[in-house]
Amino acid sequence: MLEQLELLLELQEIDTDLADLSRQGELLPIRIGEFKTEKARVRAALQEKELALDVAKKERQHREHELEDATARINDLKAKQLVIKTNEEYAALTHEIAFAGQGISDLEDGILTLLEDIDQLAADVEKAGAEKAEAERGIDESVSELQARLDELNDALAVKKDERLRIAMRIDASLLRRYEGIFRSKGDCALAPVVDGACSGCYKSLPPQTVIEVKRATRFTECDGCGRILYWRRETDVG
Ligand SMILES: [Zn+2]
Repeated sequence: MLEQLELLLELQEIDTDLADLSRQGELLPIRIGEFKTEKARVRAALQEKELALDVAKKERQHREHELEDATARINDLKAKQLVIKTNEEYAALTHEIAFAGQGISDLEDGILTLLEDIDQLAADVEKAGAEKAEAERGIDESVSELQARLDELNDALAVKKDERLRIAMRIDASLLRRYEGIFRSKGDCALAPVVDGACSGCYKSLPPQTVIEVKRATRFTECDGCGRILYWRRETDVG
């Protein structure tokens, strides 16, 4: 029985390590995901600025064309005015020319405002581009570090699993099932040493008879408080 107990204790140590590695293994991809989200965010921020700049540039082109058209129209009107016959027609054209002139002035004002916007947007694009480049450098570095740790972790997991398999093979099948059931339900350990006459898993005081049984180690005894398998630490057996 003592040999089986030693094997179970080894198994428990491995299972504790495996649980710890698995927890870390779950956290790392989450952190990698967060970095990737941040990378997408800075990229989207730049794209948004670039799009706004593009829209402003197109709007400027559109207004420039409108201005050309309006200038051509006013030149037409002025040419017509030179060959006009009646005062009414002349007055009507003067009115039209004044109206077209106002349109041109509005377009020019609009274009000036757009030019200012374009300058501001170009500066924004440059800033967002620099921010993106810097963020990406940091993020790529962090992601490759985390990825390397994840790879190491997976290697360590594979080694531990292999180790576990070799030990589990040497444990009696029904005892292994019993141990695994307790380990799963407790989440931390399935074997608890008796310390000062109590179960160290749930701190319940044990009847003296149970302590004697555990110390004698002729069969596996479970704590009637928590159900963990009790054992006697040989190093505490001195004296
Ligand atoms: Zn207990």
